[in-house]
Amino acid sequence: MNPSPRNGTSRRRILVADDEPHIRRVLETLLEASGFEAETVCDGAEALDRLRDPERVYALVLTDLMMPERSGLEVLEGIGRMEHRRGLPVVVLTAKGQDADRERALALGASDFLTKPFSPKKLLGRILEILDGAD
Ligand SMILES: [Mg+2]
Repeated sequence: MNPSPRNGTSRRRILVADDEPHIRRVLETLLEASGFEAETVCDGAEALDRLRDPERVYALVLTDLMMPERSGLEVLEGIGRMEHRRGLPVVVLTAKGQDADRERALALGASDFLTKPFSPKKLLGRILEILDGAD
């Protein structure tokens, strides 16, 4: 079985990767209040583990750049090598002053890039725009 990220009952599940517990909590609360199902992980290696499993269905990935084990850039690279994640949108969140990483993230296929502290309303708007565009 090779489920497409756009099919099935979990098309609104979002994988959230950030090493800061309070950011994970903020994102989880925001996403779940907006009708999404948030699955949170605290580093890039765990994000890649979840993404490698073809049984797990995600509509989108929201990832921090600076994380232990594997960075957000490594998550993007990994997704690029996963046949079953083709077309999966990835939104990158990061701290200010990482313009070189921003270029690299966009080159690796990030759908969008937001700088922390982010506006929850703006973030949600971008996510909805990306998911509506994917229909
Ligand atoms: Mg971080």
